[in-house]
Amino acid sequence: MNTPHLSRRHLMLGAAAIPAAASLPLSARAEAPQMGAALPPYRRFKLGAFEVTTLLAGTRTVPEPQKIFGLNATPEEFAAASEANFISPDAAQFFFTPTLINTGSELILFDTGLSPDGIVAALAAAGYTADQVDRVVVTHMHGDHIGGMYSDAPTFANAAYSTGSVEMDHWDMSGNDGFEAKIRPLQDRFDLLDDGTDVTSGITAMAAFGHTPGHMAFHVESEGERLILGADFANHYVYSLAHPDWEVLYDADKAAAAQTRRKLLDMMATDRVPFIGYHMPFPALGYVANRDSGYEYVPSSYQMMIET
Ligand SMILES: [Zn+2]
Repeated sequence: MNTPHLSRRHLMLGAAAIPAAASLPLSARAEAPQMGAALPPYRRFKLGAFEVTTLLAGTRTVPEPQKIFGLNATPEEFAAASEANFISPDAAQFFFTPTLINTGSELILFDTGLSPDGIVAALAAAGYTADQVDRVVVTHMHGDHIGGMYSDAPTFANAAYSTGSVEMDHWDMSGNDGFEAKIRPLQDRFDLLDDGTDVTSGITAMAAFGHTPGHMAFHVESEGERLILGADFANHYVYSLAHPDWEVLYDADKAAAAQTRRKLLDMMATDRVPFIGYHMPFPALGYVANRDSGYEYVPSSYQMMIET
């Protein structure tokens, strides 16, 4: 304790608290247990006739974010962008956020997190079971998106599957352990999407190539209300939006990914349409504003709660 640094305000609050505490029975004065840091595990809102739920399927702290999000930035540029947005240049918080859309007739899950247990728990927190999912849409085939698909048996026993045709072809040809474990067993059950293909009425695939060869975003519209599911077109809410041309470790084709980023960000800023980004800070829902030569992420507050 460093009492000389206690402010007058602290001392006054401390003094004011004593009489109230003294009047309580002894048992009520026991210290309540600390519960640990926590986030609400889902966010649900209406989009026209659809219900949209973002699911927190995982979060973790990752050191040295410049080695991921700013490969071609100088340390000074990276530090300046971090400081301007009140985040540390030395560590980033990662989020993994699958999205569930209940159209009223179908329950559609976009991406599946890191593991079957993780996505089942995330669904349960939002009130759903895996066997209620009618369709699983895979935006692209990185492990943090396909990890929940399969383990000995399909996680989603009653689901049909959709993914981009370019994405399926790429991984079918090149393969890797994740694809063999999570997609290959279900491969025959996939419907393949191209740019402009409807997943269902009101949900349309958009080619957003670059992060992976066939990475897809989705345009969602119900009763005139719009939303973009951006998946991994931008992987950090500050670095990828303020500096769309900064190279990202995980982008397979860095130039194509930057081009896709600028195209989608420009559309979102111009149309003022909200988006869900798989790696945006949970609940992963926000808007895009023009800022300098790049963009700014504006987290959603109550826009989706206004009753019309
Ligand atoms: Zn990802």
